Formats: sequence, structure tokens, C-alpha cells
Amino acid sequence: MGMTQTILIVEDEPAIADNIVYALETEGFQVHWRATTVEAQGVLDAQSVHLVVLDVGLPDRSGFDWCRDLRKHSNVPVIFLTARSDEIDRVVGLELGGDDYMAKPFSPRELTARVKAVLRRAAGPSTAAEECAASPIQIDAPRMKVIYFGNALDLSRYEFRMLELLAKRPGRVYTREQLMHLVWEAPEASMERTVDTHIKTLRAKMRVAHPEIDPIVTHRGVGYSLREVW
Ligand code: CA
Repeated sequence: MGMTQTILIVEDEPAIADNIVYALETEGFQVHWRATTVEAQGVLDAQSVHLVVLDVGLPDRSGFDWCRDLRKHSNVPVIFLTARSDEIDRVVGLELGGDDYMAKPFSPRELTARVKAVLRRAAGPSTAAEECAASPIQIDAPRMKVIYFGNALDLSRYEFRMLELLAKRPGRVYTREQLMHLVWEAPEASMERTVDTHIKTLRAKMRVAHPEIDPIVTHRGVGYSLREVW
């Protein structure tokens, strides 16, 4: 990517914003900082922005509400900044349209790494192809077949659909509830146990194909994701 990428920071605490602006500018990004959603919207209306870093607790409006509106007309990647652990549950909610989140306090370096990862994921087909080549999972959706480290996996319908979903966005955390709603046609009452059971059998089959790596990451009290780095 030769051209400079533009990042919009929406954060009302100057000390936090300063650190982020400095870290991202050091990495060569063009950075705009605004403290309210109204001002942030002004930036988005005036120019193209490649990624938004969005605080949840803002003075004029919740970052959640603003993001929901933003999603009606824009696919710009969004990384949420959350101050409270109870916000994380909502951040991983698909309906909010966030691409990732960071819980405060965090290091600017950590955020910079996330920004780059999200931009890579959002980038054009050339980068996507490179990532495919790097991933040991090949999914043939029409045939419902998965090749994992060169071995064909024999998966049940729900195991396949769960892995297919996780593999679309490695690193992205899905709650059990989201997995239940996105993978099962008729969500069941005992959803947590059902999801856990299928994760367990999926893991076991993948372990047989390649014993050294656990491809599925458990996020305690939240849910699951596919590992991002192999
Ligand atoms: Ca705030």
C-alpha cells in the first residue's frame, strides 16, 4: 500500500488521544482527532477515512449509537475503545458493526498493531489472497469441505458452519449467543452447552489432523475466535 492511510480518532480524553495520535503518526498514518461524534461526522463527510478508532463514552453521544448510524451508509472499519468490561459484551455484538475493540488501559503500540491488522483484513483482494495462502485452512463452501494442514476434515453440518464463520474473520470474537444465532437455523434453549459441545468436537477433529496447534481460542466468559496467527 503506497498511499498514506487516514485514521480518525474519536476520543474525548486528550491524554489518551495524544498517545494514540503520536503512535499512529509515527507509523506513517495521517491522523485526525475529534472529541465528539458531531465533529467526527464532519471529518467523514469532508474526506475519505480508512479506519475509525471510536471511544464508547463520548460527551455528545454513545459511540455505539453513532456506529450503528454510521453502518447504514459506510463500511469503514471501526475499532472501539472501551472503559468498562460490561461494554465488551456489547462491543462484540455483531449488530454494532465494530471490527475490533481495545479495553482501556492499553498501550498505543498494541492499538497500532490492531489498526494494521484490521486495515489488512479490510484491504483489497491481493492482501486477502496473501492471507489465504498463509492460512492452513481451505474452505470449499459449496461442497462443505475443509482442508486443514493438508488433511480433509470430516465435519458435521454445524461444525462446518461454525468453522466457516470463524474463518471468515480470524481473531474476531463471537459470543456463544452469536454463534448460536448465526450457525443454527433454530436456536435452542440450551445454546451455551450446544455451542460448547460443537466447539469441543470441532477442536478434537482438528487436533487429529494437526496435533500441535489449537486453532480455536477460548475467550473466558465471552466466546470463541479462530486464531489469527499460525
Ligand atoms: Ca470517553
